[in-house]
Amino acid sequence: MIRPGTGFPTDKATGTTPVAHDAAEVVRLSASAPSLNHLEARSSVCRACPRLVEWREDVADKRRAAYADERYWGRPVTGFGSARPHILVMGLAPAAHGGNRTGRIFTGDRSGDWLYAALHRAGLASQPTSVDAHDGLTLIDTRITLPVRCAPPANKPLPDERDACAPWLARELSWVLPSVRAVVCLGSFGWLAFFDQLRSLGLWTARTPRFTHGAEVEADGFSVLGCFHVSQQNTFTGRLTEPMLDAVFARAVELAAAP
Ligand code: SF4
Repeated sequence: MIRPGTGFPTDKATGTTPVAHDAAEVVRLSASAPSLNHLEARSSVCRACPRLVEWREDVADKRRAAYADERYWGRPVTGFGSARPHILVMGLAPAAHGGNRTGRIFTGDRSGDWLYAALHRAGLASQPTSVDAHDGLTLIDTRITLPVRCAPPANKPLPDERDACAPWLARELSWVLPSVRAVVCLGSFGWLAFFDQLRSLGLWTARTPRFTHGAEVEADGFSVLGCFHVSQQNTFTGRLTEPMLDAVFARAVELAAAP
């Protein structure tokens, strides 16, 4: 028997929330969203990318053996944390059995274990663990978001899927970016997507800087920091260690506190 999902986020979408069925509708519905809450509701029911909709729902239907008796979220995942953050963390996309299962970004998987533990050590999260959306976790002056809101096969969205999803992030950034002092991009995908957004917003005109772990780039009123992604590929192999992650977030905290 499948247990109802008790740990899902509060559903901001209702029966009247408009649904995007293609990229043009994402553009229209993101631009016309009157608030961050409306944006999150609209993006959480988006069906614009046929391949990703099929994948996220198929994963939710089949489930991993360890979660065989759980109902999965199986929908797009939105940004999480402060609406006026000083620090913004840019991921890639929800994990099939993490965010796609729990409905909250980086929640319920090993990547999230690494990220939230590091945020807690840096004083940016209320607790080091992230189990489900009702576990009491809050972020402190921090927001986590992502350029692609549906779990992709092999964690690899296609370019047209990245482009289709970009307007959701653009609208989110229009509200949250003014308070941000430091942006931590986890991996090259988030780095490139974030600079694309800056270019669209007219906040970056030069070539996109090369992504490296530890990179630091001055933008318009904030700094962009590069950090290897907290994926198991990096954390299991030692490519990314806890001290490396802690150093990036310590620098973000320092930048956010600067006068
Ligand atoms: S990836 Fe983005 S644009 Fe594509 S279906 Fe998911 S939320 Fe919609």
